[in-house]
Amino acid sequence: MSWQPVIGLEIHAQLSTRSKLFSGACTAYGAEPNTQAALLDVALPGTLPVPNRAALDKAIAFGLAINATIARQSIFARKNYFYPDLPKGYQISQYEAPIVGNGTLCVRTDDGRTLDVAIERAHLEEDAGKSLHDAFHAATGLDFNRAGVPLLEIVSKPVLHSAQDAVAYMRTVHTLVRWLGVCDGNMQEGSFRCDANVSVRRTSADKLGTRTEIKNVNSFRFVEKAIEYEIERQVRALENGEAIVQETRLYDAAAHRTLPMRGKEDADDYRYFPDPDLPPLVVSDADIAAVRAALPELPDARRRRYIEALDLPESDAAQLCADKATADYFEAALAALPGEAKLCANWILGELAAALNVGNLTIEASRVDAPALARLLARVREGAISGKTAKDVFAAMWAGEGDADAII
Ligand code: ADP
Ligand code: MG
Repeated sequence: MSWQPVIGLEIHAQLSTRSKLFSGACTAYGAEPNTQAALLDVALPGTLPVPNRAALDKAIAFGLAINATIARQSIFARKNYFYPDLPKGYQISQYEAPIVGNGTLCVRTDDGRTLDVAIERAHLEEDAGKSLHDAFHAATGLDFNRAGVPLLEIVSKPVLHSAQDAVAYMRTVHTLVRWLGVCDGNMQEGSFRCDANVSVRRTSADKLGTRTEIKNVNSFRFVEKAIEYEIERQVRALENGEAIVQETRLYDAAAHRTLPMRGKEDADDYRYFPDPDLPPLVVSDADIAAVRAALPELPDARRRRYIEALDLPESDAAQLCADKATADYFEAALAALPGEAKLCANWILGELAAALNVGNLTIEASRVDAPALARLLARVREGAISGKTAKDVFAAMWAGEGDADAII
């Protein structure tokens, strides 16, 4: 009898806004500890929360992009727990009535399958501060710069069945939040983090198995490895007649294993209740319409347009739409060289991508901009220079020797 892995992800995306969720300015990452601590987040008596409109709009934008229901009334709740980085003794989150309800995200796997991943909810909550365990001898430092920074917690249903599919889903969410300008997606800085919930069951079983939760894994590769390890561990335990304990585990990348961290709380333990300082959050049809009107063309729509209207191969379209900056660069090149989608795509995904890679640059920082590339490609199209010569010209442009025509 074989086992079916079941995985659900909780993704925390830090919203890129200038203010915290309820008060105070948002930190530039890496600022001196506590220079951006807000009075509310260090629990000064008399402070009161006021929701940040920009964070709300970003949550709505995400909800619309996954075709979710947007709650006309959602509730901020207190999630009570003790931790030194949480002076209030509770985190303001959303529990019973989240801003974003059921939605779906279409995910394309590496091996060419399409998954419609059901998303259960996405809710707004505050980030916590940071404990600095290595900064002082025999003491822990506390930095509240991050406390109160708005997070969107995106919770998938337990519908993923392999580590690879879970990571494909996570990448799709990552692309989407960056595309929408909702989150910068920087995983090293912790702006995009993931908790992976994993269980296994007999393929014949209709009930889900007991899950464990792997906390805060901060790279795609480690998420994949951690889930793979956890699936194997659970199958081994169950085959040995042991029970799985519902718990939170940490992934140790160096040893490639997960370790128990603490027993997993149930929702009851948090004594959630509506925050009496915050009235229900009301969202009007006009609010939603305004956010909808400002949405960019979504990655999936753009990818399909590249295939259907521009006749690009699927893999070109997918690669161009891996991030919005690349897709926008392509649009700008094509605008300057109409009708030459394939030529533009070849160069952006070939020569330009290689040069960016060598220089470790993002496409926004490219040394050759889209109009300049289009001017070079115009000469190729006319037959004025060969493809091979064009590569030399491109290298010279990259080195800062001027425009294509001048170099030619
Ligand atoms: P909590 O905050 O207690 O972890 P949530 O409801 O916020 O609870 O998140 C639960 C996550 O765990 C969801 O992503 C859900 O899909 C996933 N999940 C729930 N049950 C299982 C299970 N048996 N196996 C795998 N994942 C599960
Ligand atoms: Mg969880």
